[in-house]
Amino acid sequence: MRGLQARLEGRRITTARITRPDLRWPLPLGLERKLTGATVMGFRRRGKYMLMRLDGGESVLIHLGMSGRMVLTRTLPNAEALHEHMILETDDGWRVGFVDPRRFGCMDLIATADEDSHRLLSGLGPEPLDDAFDASVLSKALMGKRTPIKAALLDQKVVAGLGNIYVCEALFRAHLSPLRLAHTVPGVRARRLVPAIKQTLQEAIAAGGSSLRDYVQPDGELGYFQHAWKVYGREGERCEQCAGPPACDGVRRITQSGRSSFYCPHTQR
Ligand SMILES: [Zn+2]
Repeated sequence: MRGLQARLEGRRITTARITRPDLRWPLPLGLERKLTGATVMGFRRRGKYMLMRLDGGESVLIHLGMSGRMVLTRTLPNAEALHEHMILETDDGWRVGFVDPRRFGCMDLIATADEDSHRLLSGLGPEPLDDAFDASVLSKALMGKRTPIKAALLDQKVVAGLGNIYVCEALFRAHLSPLRLAHTVPGVRARRLVPAIKQTLQEAIAAGGSSLRDYVQPDGELGYFQHAWKVYGREGERCEQCAGPPACDGVRRITQSGRSSFYCPHTQR
């Protein structure tokens, strides 16, 4: 979102093209027409959703889905790239393409004043980086939950915006096993978990901004935080908190509700 913000905020969209009628769901009627000529007033993020606010009082809600990404380049005269479903061109010569080969992404239009009542946003839990999200808020949400903490943190009603990788990383930092039942976390463990969640996200955002110039890589891809996972994707590797065998035989991968969890059984309990 910050990458898009850097290029689009305050700019006028001179050309908008939508190349298909649907992604995950049908795209709103008139989207192309409303984007064309609009000035981008600003951005907001809620959970995994971006809201691009237009001067007409409407916001475009965007979710990248599983495989979606935004590609920023200087305006090119040629036609759209493969799987490019929306193309915006700005008055200062930038081109934004929304590429989503698997089409799990979505876009919608909503009055800016009513953003929070959109069906995809109204049920979301607290923002993890808000000061209001603290150990007591998380404890309350986990009370009585008999699901593993991994599943509870992926539940967007408990806390908004955490995905599989971030949950694995936050649980590692908090020394909590992904298998631990959520109802045993309130209290002292929640007081470890909340700062671990915030730290994981803050580092990811900082990495996006510092390692990638203006968040955009030379090929136009917006940056993701991919380089510094401590346990995710590291099955069998020694974790940074362990001395290795015989104390620890490395990061373990298990499957929980169809998703991979990576954790160190030695330090995460
Ligand atoms: Zn370890």
